[in-house]
Amino acid sequence: MAFSNYVCPVCHGKGSFTEQTGREEWKTTICDYCDGTGKVKAEVDIRWKPDYES
Ligand SMILES: [Zn+2]
Repeated sequence: MAFSNYVCPVCHGKGSFTEQTGREEWKTTICDYCDGTGKVKAEVDIRWKPDYES
C-alpha cells in the first residue's frame, strides 16, 4: 500500500539543490530524499493482529 505523487518536502519538488560555490561557480546536489525525482511516496505496512477486544 502506498500513497504516491507527493511533492518532496526537502527540495520542494525541484529534485536538486543549487548552491553558489564561487563567483561563477554553482554546485548542484541531487536531493537524496527523493533521489532527484522531486516526488516522494509513503509506503504503508499494515500489520494484522488477533482482535481480542471486540
Ligand atoms: Zn527531494
